[in-house]
Amino acid sequence: MNDTIANIATSLGVGAISIIRVSGLDAIKLVNKIFKGKDLEKVHSHTIHYGYIVDKEEIIDEVLVTIMRAPKTYTKEDVVEVNCHGGIASTKKVLELLLNNGCRLAEAGEFTKRAFLNGRIDLLEAEAVSDLINSETELERKVAINSLNGNLSTLIKKIRDDLLKIISNIEVNIDYPEYLDIYEVTINDLKEKIPNIEKELKELVENYETSKILYNGITVAIVGRPNVGKSSLLNKLLNYEKAIVTDIPGTTRDIVEGVVYLDGIKLQFIDTAGIRKTSDVVEKIGVEKSLNIIKDANLVLVLLNNNEKLTKEDEDLINKTKDKTKILVVNKNDLSEEINLHNYNFENIVSINTIDDDGIEPLKNKIKELFNFDKIKNSDFTYITNVRHINTIKECLNTIEEIKQELSETVEIDIIEIGLKQIWNNLGIIIGDYYDEELLDNLFKNFCVGK
Ligand code: GDP
Repeated sequence: MNDTIANIATSLGVGAISIIRVSGLDAIKLVNKIFKGKDLEKVHSHTIHYGYIVDKEEIIDEVLVTIMRAPKTYTKEDVVEVNCHGGIASTKKVLELLLNNGCRLAEAGEFTKRAFLNGRIDLLEAEAVSDLINSETELERKVAINSLNGNLSTLIKKIRDDLLKIISNIEVNIDYPEYLDIYEVTINDLKEKIPNIEKELKELVENYETSKILYNGITVAIVGRPNVGKSSLLNKLLNYEKAIVTDIPGTTRDIVEGVVYLDGIKLQFIDTAGIRKTSDVVEKIGVEKSLNIIKDANLVLVLLNNNEKLTKEDEDLINKTKDKTKILVVNKNDLSEEINLHNYNFENIVSINTIDDDGIEPLKNKIKELFNFDKIKNSDFTYITNVRHINTIKECLNTIEEIKQELSETVEIDIIEIGLKQIWNNLGIIIGDYYDEELLDNLFKNFCVGK
C-alpha cells in the first residue's frame, strides 16, 4: 500500500467531464509534476484548482484539480481528483501521463479496498458501496445506503461488544481467582445473558427473510383437485383471462403463472395442475411439477369446493402442505354448503367465490397478515442481504444452541467461553476484523475500476 494508485473514476465514454482519481503518499507530488497552475504541494486541503495538464510543453487538457489530504479522504490517504474534459483520448492521455510519472494503475475496487485496509470503513460498509453502485431498484438503494451508513455494522458491533464484556469477565475470573472484588460470572448470569444475544441474532435472520420478500417477492402456489376453481381464482387475482377455465377436470394441465403487486410487494401466483395419481403422461409431468412448486413456494393456497364433501384428495393435499405457510380457500360459496370442516381445526380459512368476487379482499388481507406487510412497510431497511453473512449468523446460532445445552448441564464456565469466543470471532469475520486475502480479492474484484 506504499505506492500511489490512479485510475479513471467515471465511466469511459464521451461525457461532459471525466474524473481521474489518484491516491497514495505521493498523490499530490505526482499530479503536481504534470500540472501547470498553482504549486499543488502548497495549497490547502480540500480545495479545487484550475490549470492545465501538460506533457512537457504540450497542453493536454484544461482541468480542475481537487486536493484532499489524508486522513479525511475516501481512502484515508492523500487523494487528488483531476476533472478533465470528458473525451476518451484526453482522459486516457492524462492517466497515461500519471502512470509514466510514477503512479500504478489501480485495480478494480482498489480505492475502496484501501479505505477498508486503512480502517475508514469495515467490510460490510465496503460491500455496501458495491451494492449501492449495482442497485437497480429504489429498495436495493435504500438497503445499500443504510448498510453504507454503518447501521448494520453498528448492530453487529453491539452484539460483539456484549459478548466481549462476558468473555473478558470470565477470563479475569479464571486468571485472577484471588481478586474477590472482581465481578464473578456465574452460570446463572450466562443463562440470563445468552438468550438476549440469541434474540438479536435471530432478529437478523428474520429480517433477512423479510428482505428476501422485499427483493424477490412471495411465491404463492395455488393447489387443489381439478375443477375446484384454481384457474378462476388466478384469473380473478390477475384480473384477466390467462388460465383456461373449463368444466373438464384436469384442464389446467400445465402450470400457469401471473404476477400481482400487493402494497408494492410482488406476489407470484402459480396455478398448478393439481396433485393426484394419474397415468396420463402429460398430466403426470404437471403433477410432479406441482409437488416441486409446493416445496419452493412461500405460501400455498389450498383450494376446496364448498359445494362438495371434503374428499380423500383434499385431505391428502392438506397433509402434504402441513409444514407450509398456507391458507385454505373454500371456493364456490355462492353454491350450497356441502363441505364439512367442523371436525377440523384449521387456522387460516377464507371463504370465497370467483363469480362475484366475494372473499377476494379478505384473502388478500390474510396474505398481508401472514407475511407481516405492516412490519415490512415500516422497517428501517437494516438488512443483511448477503448469503455468506447470513450463513455465518446461522452458525453463531448453532453455537448458541450448544452453549444453552452446556448451560443446562452446568459445564465448567471455561468450556462455555470457547463457544462465546467462536461467536465473537465469526461476527468479526462479517465486519472484516479478520479476513483472508483471497476473500478480499474476490470481493473487490466485483467493483468498477476507480472505486
Ligand atoms: P380448476 O380446474 O381448479 O382450475 O377449476 P376452474 O377454474 O377451471 O373452474 C372449474 C369450474 O368451476 C368452471 O366452470 C368455473 O366456472 C367454475 N367455478 C369456479 N369458481 C366458481 C365459483 O366461485 N362459483 C361457482 N358457482 N362456480 C365456479
